[in-house]
Amino acid sequence: MPQHIEDELREQNERFSAAVENMSHGLCMFDADERMIICNGNYINIFCLDAKVIRPGIRFLDILQHSVDIGVASQTAEELYAIRKPYIDQAKPSTYEEILSDGRTIDISHRPLASGGWVSIYEDITVQRRAEQELKEQHRRFDAALANMSQGLLMYDVDGKLIVRNQRFLELFRLDKADFPFGLTHRELLGLLIDRGIYPDDIDVEDEVSRTSASMQAGETRSTYRHLADGRALMIARRPMSGGGWVATFDDVTERRRVEERMTQLAHYDTVTGLPNRSMFRERLDQALGKTKAAPLAILSLDLDRFKAVNDTWGHPAGDWLLKCVAERLQRCLRKDTDIVARFGGDEFVILQSGVRDSADAEKLAKRIVESIAKPFRDRGRDMHVGISVGVAIFPNDGKDAETLLKNADMALYRAKGEGRNLCRFFEPAMDAMVRARHALEIDLETALPRQELDLDFQPIMNIASGEIVGAEALMRWHSRTRGVVVPDEFIPAAEETGLIISFGEWALRKACTAAASWPPGLSIAVNVSAMQLRNGGFARNVISALAFSGVPASRLELEITETVLMDESDTVLKALRQLRELGVRIALDDFGTGYSSLGYLRRFPVDKIKIDRSFTRDISNRHTAAIVRTIIALGAELGIVVTAEGVETEKQLDILRKDGCVEAQGYLIGPPSNAADILRLLKSSAARSHSG
Ligand code: C2E
Ligand code: CA
Ligand code: CA
Repeated sequence: MPQHIEDELREQNERFSAAVENMSHGLCMFDADERMIICNGNYINIFCLDAKVIRPGIRFLDILQHSVDIGVASQTAEELYAIRKPYIDQAKPSTYEEILSDGRTIDISHRPLASGGWVSIYEDITVQRRAEQELKEQHRRFDAALANMSQGLLMYDVDGKLIVRNQRFLELFRLDKADFPFGLTHRELLGLLIDRGIYPDDIDVEDEVSRTSASMQAGETRSTYRHLADGRALMIARRPMSGGGWVATFDDVTERRRVEERMTQLAHYDTVTGLPNRSMFRERLDQALGKTKAAPLAILSLDLDRFKAVNDTWGHPAGDWLLKCVAERLQRCLRKDTDIVARFGGDEFVILQSGVRDSADAEKLAKRIVESIAKPFRDRGRDMHVGISVGVAIFPNDGKDAETLLKNADMALYRAKGEGRNLCRFFEPAMDAMVRARHALEIDLETALPRQELDLDFQPIMNIASGEIVGAEALMRWHSRTRGVVVPDEFIPAAEETGLIISFGEWALRKACTAAASWPPGLSIAVNVSAMQLRNGGFARNVISALAFSGVPASRLELEITETVLMDESDTVLKALRQLRELGVRIALDDFGTGYSSLGYLRRFPVDKIKIDRSFTRDISNRHTAAIVRTIIALGAELGIVVTAEGVETEKQLDILRKDGCVEAQGYLIGPPSNAADILRLLKSSAARSHSG
């Protein structure tokens, strides 16, 4: 071989070796006898082979055996060879992968040589394979996520074409896959939803598209509520993707919105009347007071009178209806934009009146309210009567903070109720002390009965024409250990407020009947009964048991009730009264003339007796008063109702009454209230006198 050719060959060989050595792949060349001709360092490295063993001339099978020996291969040499052999024999290029015992994946590319033998190129593709696997897994997860999302999802590519939409999206819009081909643009999609009547047609498509694309370009998320034509609400969020394009998610928030609205409603408004509740009122009041130069304002604390009776008589639905009507009337009394009325619970309402110049402003409002509520509430032929009492506290005079103002308005309300209802009272500092005193009284009153501090006095009643004593009225007395003798006007209201009147009244009935049992026969015993006792279901039973216990016939018992009892319109009350009347118990209308004196009540319930209030007797020399008294007496005669004049103190008063034809008289002139023993003596002597006379 000529020298230059030899040189050239050698040079070529060297270049080849260098190239082989510098390849990033592993390389190994075999001759037709399957013996290795050459391999590079990468090949040794990939398989972690021993370079001293892998020398030119080594047989392919021995290399395989070596790799098994050093623990690189995951199969036996024979198995590996069996895989390779067909390729070697077929002399065809091929590619396959081998997994090594350490988990790596090696890509092997087999290339036959023209001279027989072959070249193998090896590449460690572990990282690549892992990435592919991960990507595949990601795809799988993405698909699963898409399919299982509770949100509808759309994905647009860089060009703004629809490339992904999940099943939920189609369900949300009740559409078919075919309705939503991939490749749609945002604009086309909006148009389609409007055409289908899914989106309302007042959507400005161009505006929507340009806003969205501006947000996406700025890399910002864009969230909007969309009300569908069918009333559902969607929350749509659009997020730009890092590689361009964007994703839109669609959430059906109809229910959530409803719940949220309901929650705020519940948190701030009363469910029965729809008025703001206590917490909302406090917020507004604090706001008004929190201003740097807070304007004067009035707090009106309101409480319905006789609401309980409505509830007891007509049931809770009627009570709720009434509360709603009261709320409406109250609102009509206010200036809508500046004043607010809230329901604090039960039959309590509170008003915040703004722009109050002086107490006269608040008084005007209170008057309007009292008048408005005093009108009957008519529902399906039923007339419901309630009244309202009002307590007022004014900022800043009566308190600087919400707490104090509300407390003081309540105190004024308490006073209003105590003074006769349907009234408005303003807070006065002295009320604080009064309320404390009242509270102490109530606490003392609780032990009055168990400590046997109650007693009854009896006041005689005379028939004017005959001058005979016909009976006596039982009047309660409280001999308090700490307070001395307390008069009924001082403790009966507190007993009514606390409910103690029920047990007090029951006690009085028994005690009065027991006393009357020893009186001369035929004399009547009158007992005062509070409205609350009558509303209590067991009243008739108590009366019957008191009569049975004492042995006093029903015809001797007279129950004195006030007009308000009849105004309660309660079935319970009227039923009990009727039942007792059928037994022969007489019903007297007490304090006639002081309340509503609506003769309509007499028609609703026929009473046996009317007691003219002592204020009329006191004023009987006045022409007008005399006329009223005469009318009542005439009316009584007409209806067969006995008329009794109370508070007769002078002979002159008695003379007038006698002339007018009044049937009975009661008062200091006839006899003051006296204890059981004294009255017994009086009654006995009077009976004896009339017998002998
Ligand atoms: P009332 O039913 O109108 O009782 C008559 C009141 O007038 C009694 O007052 C009596 O002492 C008083 N009085 C009698 N004659 C005269 C008179 O000539 N001049 C004047 N100025 N007053 C006279 P009292 O005993 O202080 O009772 C006050 C109210 O307390 C009673 O008014 C009645 O509404 C209530 N009361 C008394 N006892 C009971 C009771 O057992 N149960 C209930 N629920 N209320 C009662
Ligand atoms: Ca009475
Ligand atoms: Ca009376």
